[in-house]
Amino acid sequence: MSLLEDIFVPARAPFSKILKAGQVMRIIDLESQQAVDALFYNAHDFGERYSAQDTLAAQAAAQKPFYLETGSVLLSNEGRAMVTLVADTCGYHDTCAGACSCESNTVRFGHETRFMHACRENFLAELQKYGLGKRDLVSNVNFFMNVPIRPNGELTVDDGVSKPGGYVDLRAEMDVLVLISNCPQVNNPCNGFNPTPIRIIISE
Ligand SMILES: [Zn+2]
Repeated sequence: MSLLEDIFVPARAPFSKILKAGQVMRIIDLESQQAVDALFYNAHDFGERYSAQDTLAAQAAAQKPFYLETGSVLLSNEGRAMVTLVADTCGYHDTCAGACSCESNTVRFGHETRFMHACRENFLAELQKYGLGKRDLVSNVNFFMNVPIRPNGELTVDDGVSKPGGYVDLRAEMDVLVLISNCPQVNNPCNGFNPTPIRIIISE
């Protein structure tokens, strides 16, 4: 493997990158418990994009869990492999809970949170660089985010379980645009109430 890029993404910031098929992106949770929201688009046809529904349906059919782990294949809305999780130190990545937004913050945490920065704003700021907008936002992956299902069926955002320096390796299975929001949420424990920087290493 040869190193192509080593990138520091500040706390709360967005980031995006087009990976060529076969390249590997390592996302490193530098200080622990940092949720990293991500979306994926076919670099040659943005109409083909990550599908949480197809990905989880395929995992269920294979008797795999409802969260993402090493070996999980992220599928597009056309059923094709976009990215594979080829290595992981965390063991648990959510794709059910979605991204935080100003709108959902007001519903969940009170109207005074209306003007706090959120992942949806990060995604929109980064999407416009590619001529994309609100209609292109779909259900995302939350790397390092812990969302267990309680025995009563309730879905909860719980304390993150990833350790300092924890990482996940994503291998591109097609040329793929990766969109990231280093989650700025401070109203629930998805970031340990303290958003922190991440590091991204791209190699091939
Ligand atoms: Zn967020």
